[in-house]
Amino acid sequence: MDNIVDFSKSHNMKAYNIKAKDIIVEERVYLKCAYGCKDFGKRLNCPPNCISIDKFKTILSEYDNAVILLQEYRTSSKENMIDAWEDARREAFRTMMEVEKFAFNSGFTFAHLLRPGSCNECQVCEEKCSKPSLRRFSPEAVGVNLDKTLKNVNIIIDYSDYSVINLIGILLLE
Ligand code: SF4
Repeated sequence: MDNIVDFSKSHNMKAYNIKAKDIIVEERVYLKCAYGCKDFGKRLNCPPNCISIDKFKTILSEYDNAVILLQEYRTSSKENMIDAWEDARREAFRTMMEVEKFAFNSGFTFAHLLRPGSCNECQVCEEKCSKPSLRRFSPEAVGVNLDKTLKNVNIIIDYSDYSVINLIGILLLE
């Protein structure tokens, strides 16, 4: 797995090997999606259009390892934070997909990315996903408590610098 960490770092991302059992999944994370996020029910990678928290718990139990991916996106040159957030997660997602592809080609045939945020590969989601090969749900969409998970594996993120957006993904590995 060290080669995956090295590959991520060479693509301007921080990467941390963790055990899959250290990923904390809680039912209450659903509240953050259902009551507060504008993309709930609209994006096809978001609840209730993605797999359930229960289903994800079962899937997660079949993995031993994972990599936390972190990309820091600087917004200082951006005036509009909404545009910056759109650009940041699109850019981070595409880089993280390169890592997923690299992992697959390295022999991790069940490598699967949990992407940062809701999908914005298209202007809107129609009834069916128009780019199914790019459809990945976020950690939060399947109940991952990211804050607790990061603390659990001693990853500290400085949220005090508002000119930086921290994009976090999880790559499941097997
Ligand atoms: S690829 Fe397009 S249609 Fe599919 S989930 Fe993403 S934004 Fe929606």
